[in-house]
Amino acid sequence: MTKNISLIDLDPRIDSGFFMAKKDNKEAINGDFKGKDILSLDQFSPLDISILFKHTKRMRTIGVNAKPSDLLKGNIVTLIFYEPSSRTFGSFGAAVKQLGGQTIEVHDVSATSVAKGESLEDTIRVFEAYCDAIVIRHPIKGSIQKAADAAFFVPVINAGDGAGSHPTQALLDLYTIYEKFHRLDSITALLCGDVLHSRTHHSLIEGLSIYPNNTIYLLSPKKLKLSREDFAKYSKNNIKLIEIHDEKDIPENADVWYWNRIQRERFENPKEAEKYKDKFILTQQLLQERGSENLIILDPLPRVGEIDLNVDADPRAGYLRTQIRNGMYVRMALLSLVLDKA
Ligand code: ASP
Repeated sequence: MTKNISLIDLDPRIDSGFFMAKKDNKEAINGDFKGKDILSLDQFSPLDISILFKHTKRMRTIGVNAKPSDLLKGNIVTLIFYEPSSRTFGSFGAAVKQLGGQTIEVHDVSATSVAKGESLEDTIRVFEAYCDAIVIRHPIKGSIQKAADAAFFVPVINAGDGAGSHPTQALLDLYTIYEKFHRLDSITALLCGDVLHSRTHHSLIEGLSIYPNNTIYLLSPKKLKLSREDFAKYSKNNIKLIEIHDEKDIPENADVWYWNRIQRERFENPKEAEKYKDKFILTQQLLQERGSENLIILDPLPRVGEIDLNVDADPRAGYLRTQIRNGMYVRMALLSLVLDKA
Protein backbone atom coordinates (compact mmCIF):
# COMPACT_ATOMS: atom_id res chain seq x y z
CA MET A 1 0.00 0.00 0.00
CA THR A 2 1.24 3.49 -0.82
CA LYS A 3 1.86 5.69 2.19
CA ASN A 4 -1.25 7.68 2.86
CA ILE A 5 0.17 10.87 4.29
CA SER A 6 -0.93 14.21 2.99
CA LEU A 7 2.37 15.77 4.03
CA ILE A 8 4.00 14.25 0.98
CA ASP A 9 2.10 16.74 -1.13
CA LEU A 10 4.18 19.44 0.49
CA ASP A 11 7.36 18.38 -1.26
CA PRO A 12 7.53 19.94 -4.73
CA ARG A 13 9.62 17.00 -5.93
CA ILE A 14 6.43 14.93 -5.80
CA ASP A 15 4.62 17.41 -8.06
CA SER A 16 7.50 17.39 -10.51
CA GLY A 17 7.11 13.62 -10.80
CA PHE A 18 10.70 13.11 -9.64
CA PHE A 19 9.56 11.05 -6.66
CA MET A 20 6.68 8.71 -6.08
CA ALA A 21 5.23 8.13 -2.63
CA LYS A 22 6.84 4.99 -1.25
CA LYS A 23 5.04 1.81 -0.31
CA ASP A 24 4.72 1.34 3.43
CA ASN A 25 6.03 -2.19 3.62
CA LYS A 26 9.22 -3.95 2.60
CA GLU A 27 9.14 -4.70 -1.09
CA ALA A 28 10.80 -7.49 -3.05
CA ILE A 29 13.22 -6.09 -5.62
CA ASN A 30 11.76 -8.15 -8.46
CA GLY A 31 14.22 -6.84 -11.03
CA ASP A 32 13.44 -3.20 -10.25
CA PHE A 33 15.50 -1.37 -7.63
CA LYS A 34 14.13 2.10 -8.31
CA GLY A 35 13.12 3.97 -5.17
CA LYS A 36 13.06 0.84 -3.01
CA ASP A 37 14.25 0.62 0.57
CA ILE A 38 17.09 -1.87 0.96
CA LEU A 39 16.42 -3.47 4.32
CA SER A 40 17.41 -7.12 4.16
CA LEU A 41 18.58 -9.86 1.85
CA ASP A 42 15.19 -11.55 1.75
CA GLN A 43 14.12 -8.86 -0.74
CA PHE A 44 16.54 -10.31 -3.32
CA SER A 45 16.27 -13.15 -5.84
CA PRO A 46 19.19 -14.61 -7.83
CA LEU A 47 18.08 -12.42 -10.75
CA ASP A 48 18.25 -9.24 -8.61
CA ILE A 49 21.72 -10.18 -7.43
CA SER A 50 22.90 -10.82 -10.96
CA ILE A 51 21.58 -7.40 -12.07
CA LEU A 52 23.47 -5.82 -9.17
CA PHE A 53 26.69 -7.71 -9.93
CA LYS A 54 26.54 -6.80 -13.60
CA HIS A 55 26.46 -3.14 -12.59
CA THR A 56 29.14 -3.74 -9.99
CA LYS A 57 31.51 -4.84 -12.77
CA ARG A 58 30.86 -1.54 -14.57
CA MET A 59 31.44 0.36 -11.36
CA ARG A 60 34.73 -1.46 -10.90
CA THR A 61 35.92 -0.11 -14.24
CA ILE A 62 35.02 3.41 -13.14
CA GLY A 63 36.79 2.96 -9.81
CA VAL A 64 39.89 1.19 -11.10
CA ASN A 65 40.55 3.73 -13.83
CA ALA A 66 39.51 6.72 -11.69
CA LYS A 67 37.30 7.41 -14.68
CA PRO A 68 35.18 10.53 -14.09
CA SER A 69 31.52 9.64 -13.87
CA ASP A 70 28.50 11.86 -13.44
CA LEU A 71 25.95 9.09 -12.99
CA LEU A 72 24.78 10.58 -9.68
CA LYS A 73 25.39 14.20 -10.63
CA GLY A 74 22.73 16.32 -8.94
CA ASN A 75 21.96 13.63 -6.36
CA ILE A 76 22.52 14.09 -2.66
CA VAL A 77 22.72 11.10 -0.33
CA THR A 78 22.52 11.45 3.45
CA LEU A 79 24.70 9.14 5.51
CA ILE A 80 23.48 9.13 9.08
CA PHE A 81 25.24 6.76 11.47
CA TYR A 82 24.14 6.36 15.07
CA GLU A 83 27.01 3.90 15.62
CA PRO A 84 30.74 3.94 14.78
CA SER A 85 31.82 2.88 11.31
CA SER A 86 34.91 3.06 9.09
CA ARG A 87 34.33 0.93 6.00
CA THR A 88 30.57 1.19 5.54
CA PHE A 89 30.53 4.94 6.10
CA GLY A 90 33.71 5.51 4.08
CA SER A 91 32.70 3.31 1.17
CA PHE A 92 29.17 4.72 0.85
CA GLY A 93 30.64 8.24 0.89
CA ALA A 94 33.29 7.29 -1.67
CA ALA A 95 30.67 5.50 -3.80
CA VAL A 96 28.52 8.63 -4.10
CA LYS A 97 31.56 10.80 -4.90
CA GLN A 98 32.97 8.35 -7.44
CA LEU A 99 29.71 8.82 -9.32
CA GLY A 100 29.69 12.60 -9.12
CA GLY A 101 27.05 12.91 -6.40
CA GLN A 102 27.24 14.67 -3.07
CA THR A 103 26.74 13.60 0.53
CA ILE A 104 25.40 14.97 3.78
CA GLU A 105 27.51 13.13 6.33
CA VAL A 106 26.36 12.73 9.92
CA HIS A 107 28.89 10.58 11.68
CA ASP A 108 28.19 11.81 15.14
CA VAL A 109 24.52 12.23 15.94
CA SER A 110 25.37 13.81 19.29
CA ALA A 111 26.12 16.93 17.27
CA THR A 112 22.56 16.97 15.87
CA SER A 113 19.10 17.56 17.35
CA VAL A 114 19.14 13.91 18.41
CA ALA A 115 21.03 15.24 21.45
CA LYS A 116 18.02 17.47 22.18
CA GLY A 117 15.74 14.45 22.15
CA GLU A 118 14.52 14.49 18.54
CA SER A 119 12.92 11.19 17.53
CA LEU A 120 14.40 8.96 14.84
CA GLU A 121 11.27 9.48 12.74
CA ASP A 122 11.50 13.28 12.81
CA THR A 123 15.23 13.23 12.05
CA ILE A 124 14.56 11.04 9.01
CA ARG A 125 11.76 13.32 7.77
CA VAL A 126 14.04 16.34 8.08
CA PHE A 127 16.93 14.81 6.16
CA GLU A 128 14.71 13.42 3.44
CA ALA A 129 13.75 16.98 2.59
CA TYR A 130 17.41 17.62 1.67
CA CYS A 131 18.38 14.49 -0.22
CA ASP A 132 17.46 11.68 -2.59
CA ALA A 133 18.36 8.66 -0.44
CA ILE A 134 19.26 7.96 3.17
CA VAL A 135 21.87 5.45 4.30
CA ILE A 136 21.47 4.73 7.99
CA ARG A 137 23.10 2.67 10.76
CA HIS A 138 21.55 2.31 14.20
CA PRO A 139 22.45 0.29 17.32
CA ILE A 140 18.90 -0.93 17.99
CA LYS A 141 17.58 -3.82 15.91
CA GLY A 142 14.39 -2.80 14.13
CA SER A 143 15.29 0.90 13.91
CA ILE A 144 16.09 0.83 10.20
CA GLN A 145 12.61 -0.47 9.45
CA LYS A 146 11.26 2.37 11.60
CA ALA A 147 13.34 4.85 9.61
CA ALA A 148 12.07 3.40 6.33
CA ASP A 149 8.50 3.65 7.58
CA ALA A 150 9.08 7.28 8.55
CA ALA A 151 10.49 8.34 5.17
CA PHE A 152 7.64 9.37 2.91
CA PHE A 153 9.36 8.94 -0.44
CA VAL A 154 13.14 8.76 -0.15
CA PRO A 155 14.64 5.24 -0.22
CA VAL A 156 16.32 4.12 2.98
CA ILE A 157 19.33 1.80 2.91
CA ASN A 158 20.22 -0.33 5.91
CA ALA A 159 23.90 0.14 6.80
CA GLY A 160 23.71 -1.98 9.95
CA ASP A 161 20.73 -2.59 12.20
CA GLY A 162 21.97 -3.40 15.71
CA ALA A 163 22.46 -7.13 16.14
CA GLY A 164 19.99 -7.70 13.29
CA SER A 165 21.23 -7.40 9.73
CA HIS A 166 23.75 -5.70 7.47
CA PRO A 167 22.58 -6.37 3.92
CA THR A 168 25.09 -4.29 1.96
CA GLN A 169 27.94 -6.08 3.75
CA ALA A 170 26.44 -9.41 2.68
CA LEU A 171 26.07 -8.19 -0.90
CA LEU A 172 29.76 -7.29 -1.06
CA ASP A 173 30.67 -10.57 0.62
CA LEU A 174 28.63 -12.48 -1.96
CA TYR A 175 30.28 -10.49 -4.74
CA THR A 176 33.73 -11.34 -3.38
CA ILE A 177 32.81 -15.04 -3.13
CA TYR A 178 31.37 -14.93 -6.64
CA GLU A 179 34.54 -13.34 -8.04
CA LYS A 180 36.56 -16.19 -6.59
CA PHE A 181 34.36 -19.20 -7.42
CA HIS A 182 32.15 -17.92 -10.28
CA ARG A 183 29.13 -19.35 -8.51
CA LEU A 184 27.05 -18.81 -5.38
CA ASP A 185 25.50 -22.25 -5.14
CA SER A 186 27.07 -25.45 -3.78
CA ILE A 187 29.27 -23.44 -1.42
CA THR A 188 30.44 -24.71 1.96
CA ALA A 189 31.12 -21.80 4.30
CA LEU A 190 32.39 -21.57 7.85
CA LEU A 191 31.19 -18.55 9.84
CA CYS A 192 33.09 -18.06 13.07
CA GLY A 193 32.74 -15.77 16.08
CA ASP A 194 29.81 -14.19 17.88
CA VAL A 195 27.08 -15.72 15.75
CA LEU A 196 24.43 -14.61 18.23
CA HIS A 197 25.08 -10.89 17.77
CA SER A 198 26.92 -10.62 14.45
CA ARG A 199 24.67 -8.91 11.91
CA THR A 200 27.19 -9.67 9.17
CA HIS A 201 26.82 -13.38 9.90
CA HIS A 202 23.03 -13.08 9.88
CA SER A 203 22.92 -11.33 6.52
CA LEU A 204 25.44 -13.68 4.92
CA ILE A 205 23.31 -16.64 6.01
CA GLU A 206 20.32 -14.95 4.34
CA GLY A 207 22.40 -14.18 1.25
CA LEU A 208 23.66 -17.73 0.78
CA SER A 209 20.11 -18.99 1.33
CA ILE A 210 19.10 -17.38 -1.95
CA TYR A 211 21.02 -20.11 -3.83
CA PRO A 212 20.63 -23.90 -3.80
CA ASN A 213 22.84 -26.47 -2.18
CA ASN A 214 24.78 -24.27 0.26
CA THR A 215 25.98 -25.47 3.66
CA ILE A 216 27.04 -23.18 6.49
CA TYR A 217 28.98 -24.30 9.54
CA LEU A 218 28.51 -21.88 12.44
CA LEU A 219 31.48 -22.02 14.83
CA SER A 220 30.94 -20.14 18.09
CA PRO A 221 31.16 -20.50 21.84
CA LYS A 222 27.97 -22.29 22.96
CA LYS A 223 26.64 -19.16 24.64
CA LEU A 224 27.06 -17.21 21.41
CA LYS A 225 25.23 -19.51 19.02
CA LEU A 226 22.29 -18.17 17.02
CA SER A 227 19.18 -17.41 19.07
CA ARG A 228 16.70 -20.27 18.67
CA GLU A 229 14.33 -17.81 17.01
CA ASP A 230 16.93 -16.89 14.37
CA PHE A 231 17.96 -20.51 13.94
CA ALA A 232 14.35 -21.45 13.19
CA LYS A 233 13.91 -18.43 10.89
CA TYR A 234 17.06 -19.09 8.84
CA SER A 235 16.54 -22.86 8.76
CA LYS A 236 13.26 -22.32 6.95
CA ASN A 237 15.33 -20.95 4.12
CA ASN A 238 17.03 -22.98 1.50
CA ILE A 239 20.20 -23.68 3.52
CA LYS A 240 21.82 -26.33 5.68
CA LEU A 241 23.03 -24.85 8.99
CA ILE A 242 25.40 -26.87 11.18
CA GLU A 243 26.34 -25.48 14.59
CA ILE A 244 29.76 -26.45 15.96
CA HIS A 245 31.68 -25.34 19.03
CA ASP A 246 35.07 -26.92 18.55
CA GLU A 247 37.75 -26.21 15.94
CA LYS A 248 38.16 -29.95 15.46
CA ASP A 249 34.74 -30.00 13.80
CA ILE A 250 35.71 -27.53 11.07
CA PRO A 251 35.19 -29.33 7.75
CA GLU A 252 38.33 -29.56 5.64
CA ASN A 253 36.48 -28.83 2.43
CA ALA A 254 35.08 -25.34 3.23
CA ASP A 255 35.31 -22.81 0.38
CA VAL A 256 34.85 -19.75 2.60
CA TRP A 257 36.10 -18.94 6.10
CA TYR A 258 34.32 -15.86 7.45
CA TRP A 259 35.61 -14.63 10.77
CA ASN A 260 34.00 -11.76 12.70
CA ARG A 261 34.98 -10.30 16.08
CA ILE A 262 33.06 -10.77 19.33
CA GLN A 263 30.48 -7.95 19.29
CA ARG A 264 31.48 -6.43 22.62
CA GLU A 265 29.03 -3.53 22.41
CA ARG A 266 26.05 -5.91 22.27
CA PHE A 267 26.75 -7.44 25.70
CA GLU A 268 24.92 -6.07 28.72
CA ASN A 269 28.19 -6.42 30.57
CA PRO A 270 31.06 -5.81 28.13
CA LYS A 271 33.44 -7.58 30.54
CA GLU A 272 31.59 -10.78 29.70
CA ALA A 273 32.76 -10.40 26.09
CA GLU A 274 36.36 -10.69 27.27
CA LYS A 275 35.70 -14.31 28.17
CA TYR A 276 35.15 -15.20 24.53
CA LYS A 277 37.68 -12.92 22.85
CA ASP A 278 40.45 -15.45 22.39
CA LYS A 279 38.34 -18.56 22.01
CA PHE A 280 38.65 -18.95 18.23
CA ILE A 281 41.62 -17.26 16.62
CA LEU A 282 42.43 -17.89 13.00
CA THR A 283 46.13 -18.77 12.90
CA GLN A 284 48.48 -20.17 10.27
CA GLN A 285 48.43 -23.41 12.23
CA LEU A 286 44.65 -23.70 12.07
CA LEU A 287 44.80 -22.93 8.37
CA GLN A 288 47.36 -25.67 7.83
CA GLU A 289 45.32 -28.14 9.82
CA ARG A 290 41.83 -27.48 8.47
CA GLY A 291 41.95 -25.02 5.57
CA SER A 292 41.55 -26.12 1.95
CA GLU A 293 43.94 -25.00 -0.80
CA ASN A 294 41.34 -23.00 -2.66
CA LEU A 295 39.83 -21.26 0.35
CA ILE A 296 38.94 -17.59 0.61
CA ILE A 297 39.25 -15.99 4.06
CA LEU A 298 36.96 -13.05 4.76
CA ASP A 299 36.31 -10.74 7.72
CA PRO A 300 34.01 -7.71 7.57
CA LEU A 301 36.45 -5.94 9.96
CA PRO A 302 37.36 -4.31 12.27
CA ARG A 303 39.79 -7.02 13.30
CA VAL A 304 40.34 -7.11 17.02
CA GLY A 305 42.50 -10.17 17.39
CA GLU A 306 40.28 -12.80 15.76
CA ILE A 307 42.73 -13.28 12.85
CA ASP A 308 46.43 -13.53 13.55
CA LEU A 309 48.52 -10.93 11.70
CA ASN A 310 50.63 -13.73 10.18
CA VAL A 311 47.65 -14.83 8.13
CA ASP A 312 47.58 -11.52 6.21
CA ALA A 313 50.32 -12.62 3.83
CA ASP A 314 48.53 -15.86 2.93
CA PRO A 315 47.22 -15.64 -0.65
CA ARG A 316 43.87 -16.96 0.57
CA ALA A 317 43.32 -13.90 2.79
CA GLY A 318 40.74 -11.64 1.13
CA TYR A 319 39.85 -9.35 4.04
CA LEU A 320 42.45 -6.63 3.53
CA ARG A 321 42.39 -7.02 -0.24
CA THR A 322 39.42 -7.42 -2.56
CA GLN A 323 36.71 -7.46 0.11
CA ILE A 324 37.18 -3.81 1.07
CA ARG A 325 37.38 -2.36 -2.42
CA ASN A 326 34.43 -4.51 -3.53
CA GLY A 327 32.38 -2.79 -0.83
CA MET A 328 32.68 0.49 -2.66
CA TYR A 329 31.88 -1.00 -6.09
CA VAL A 330 28.80 -2.86 -4.84
CA ARG A 331 27.53 0.27 -3.07
CA MET A 332 28.12 2.35 -6.21
CA ALA A 333 26.02 -0.15 -8.15
CA LEU A 334 23.29 -0.32 -5.53
CA LEU A 335 22.94 3.46 -5.20
CA SER A 336 22.80 3.99 -8.93
CA LEU A 337 20.13 1.31 -9.30
CA VAL A 338 18.02 2.61 -6.40
CA LEU A 339 18.30 6.15 -7.75
CA ASP A 340 17.43 4.88 -11.23
CA LYS A 341 20.66 6.13 -12.75
CA ALA A 342 22.31 2.83 -13.68
N1 ASP B 1 31.72 -3.73 10.50
C1 ASP B 1 30.82 -4.82 10.69
C2 ASP B 1 29.50 -4.34 11.26
O1 ASP B 1 29.26 -3.15 11.28
C3 ASP B 1 31.42 -5.91 11.50
C4 ASP B 1 31.74 -5.57 12.93
O2 ASP B 1 31.59 -4.43 13.37
O3 ASP B 1 32.17 -6.50 13.60
O4 ASP B 1 28.68 -5.15 11.65
